[in-house]
Amino acid sequence: MSSRRPFIAGNWKMHKTAAETGGFVRELAGRVPADVDVAVCVPYTSLAAAIAAAAGSPLRVYAQNMHQAPHGAFTGEVSAPMLLDLGADGVLIGHSERRQYYNETDEALAEKLATAHEAGLEVILAVGETEEQREAGDTEAVLARQIEQSGAAASPAALTIAYEPVWAIGTGRTATPDTAQEAHAFIRGLFPASRADRLRIQYGGSMKGDNAPSLLAQPDIDGGLIGGASLEVDAFLAIVAAAVPAG
Ligand code: PEP
Repeated sequence: MSSRRPFIAGNWKMHKTAAETGGFVRELAGRVPADVDVAVCVPYTSLAAAIAAAAGSPLRVYAQNMHQAPHGAFTGEVSAPMLLDLGADGVLIGHSERRQYYNETDEALAEKLATAHEAGLEVILAVGETEEQREAGDTEAVLARQIEQSGAAASPAALTIAYEPVWAIGTGRTATPDTAQEAHAFIRGLFPASRADRLRIQYGGSMKGDNAPSLLAQPDIDGGLIGGASLEVDAFLAIVAAAVPAG
């Protein structure tokens, strides 16, 4: 476990209606331990319900995406100032599903990162290699490109990186603690020394209550970005419990 404050975030993806969100978030918010930061990244339609249910608690509420422009003729899109106005704490950007299905580029992510920070939103930026890239020995080159081209290393505070090997997302195939640690240490090394020590890097990819302790025990793994296991309060809290610093 690192000396940085642990940060566990749930990514609901396209799950839960607004009606389902209130009760879930109320229960979760009431059980967040004092020494772990916890967030839920919810669909746009659940943001208002989640923000209301989390009010007065330490639980943070994030969107799962946003447009890079602050406003404009972009039908169907939502901007950083709109998220802030609603009361969202932050936004998840660069998830592999958005890179894969919605052609989200590192250049667009650089703009999103700048716009989100300008608006005052916290950001989780997801990065990670595909199975083909890992097998070709390209993991470090891919991670370096994603971090550098998105401008993450130069961006101000309130940034968390989520390392999510694409082959481990929703597959039940978790990276071994050693493999994940190696990638996390590499990512940390891409940041200036003054920044690197404080930067929180989450692991994501089939993290569950049973594999969380060995992953979170690694020195450069500061938390988790959780998909499937974040959809059920007890399963999610089992991972949060594994992040509570010992003693
Ligand atoms: C994710 O969607 O970011 C993720 C890590 O999913 P899962 O935990 O289901 O692999």
